[in-house]
Amino acid sequence: MVQVSIWLFIGLVLFGYVFELILDILNISHKNKPIPPQVADVYSDEAYAKQQKYEKVTTQFSIFQGVISTSIIVMLLVFGVFGWLHGTIAELGFGKTPATLLFFGVILLVSKVFSLPFSIYGTFVIEERFGFNRITPKLFIIDSLKSLLLSVVIGGVILFVITWLFYSTGKWFWVLALAVALVFTFIANILYSRVIVPLFNKQEPLKEGSLRDLIFEFAQKVNFPLTKVFVIDGSKRSTKANAYFSGFGKNRRVVLYDTLIEKMSETEVLAVLAHEIGHFRKKHIWINLVIGNVQAGAYLFLFTLLSTKIDVASALGFAGSTEAIFHLSLIGFGILTTPLDLLLSLATNRLSRKMEYQADVFAKQYKLDSELISGLKKLSAENLSNLTPHPAYVFVHYSHPTLVQRIGKLSD
Ligand SMILES: [Zn+2]
Repeated sequence: MVQVSIWLFIGLVLFGYVFELILDILNISHKNKPIPPQVADVYSDEAYAKQQKYEKVTTQFSIFQGVISTSIIVMLLVFGVFGWLHGTIAELGFGKTPATLLFFGVILLVSKVFSLPFSIYGTFVIEERFGFNRITPKLFIIDSLKSLLLSVVIGGVILFVITWLFYSTGKWFWVLALAVALVFTFIANILYSRVIVPLFNKQEPLKEGSLRDLIFEFAQKVNFPLTKVFVIDGSKRSTKANAYFSGFGKNRRVVLYDTLIEKMSETEVLAVLAHEIGHFRKKHIWINLVIGNVQAGAYLFLFTLLSTKIDVASALGFAGSTEAIFHLSLIGFGILTTPLDLLLSLATNRLSRKMEYQADVFAKQYKLDSELISGLKKLSAENLSNLTPHPAYVFVHYSHPTLVQRIGKLSD
């Protein structure tokens, strides 16, 4: 097997971080740009000063967090901690698949412990200071425990199946693993709104009234089979607002945050909903699903092909193994594919921005463009969105066009 140098790993980790850092710095350097006239009415002077402060504080925080987490990963690589952990677990003699579960269990636990202070600071200091936070410490603890339990149970089952397949199916591993991933995607879609969401939030059917009439009238007009519209109590955690569709076929439902209804006029909510229906009409949900699975298939194929040819375990600190060790290979190839991940995310974000325009155009076809514009402006103001992000930052990170770009297309 071909050996990989530890310096390649360290180089790629640093490359990934420096790339992000440059984008953050470019973005923050853009914050004093004059406000474009189309969005001049989004903030009052006072609110804009607050937005600028929020942008600065959150960027500084993310840079700090990046420095700490990158340093930890580099140290783990330099001291061969991944290989050491594997060796220690292997000595316990549990067998290959349980060893992988234990390995990732330890990593999950340690990473939770390290990320907890950041999460606490982000929520109770930064979001609190800018008036977004509504979560109580008690709810925060309950949420954290629930999501940890969910990742252990769901992640554990998936990991168990995939690891077992890796060690028992050889070169066809990638086909079978992809099939498993596909089955899990469908199960998750069915269970998400019925089982996962109720663990964290209350969902109630939208009450009878003018908003509900407006929505159902519109759905009928555009011939969209809408049966379930729910309101979710997003306000118990944050003042930030949102709306989304979930599920396929019979399980399909529209979910509106209570914060959205609170802040927008009824026609603005309708315009947001029309945008969401536009995504359905243009088959965006299916396109994304196909692209996601093709990508996953390509990664799994590459992983199966390379894991027998390239030895990443030695560079990670465990020398002398004659066959691929699943968890060390996963970590090694996770780092090796950093440039590929970046290229793919550029392509998918570009496509996603194009789809957002198409969904906006759908709303415009039904003369909801001015409502959509005023709704988006309110959302931006409420979420303290950046009006002047750097084009490079938008190109890499934005899955949605900027407010200025969307208003531009909608007013064409
Ligand atoms: Zn959209």
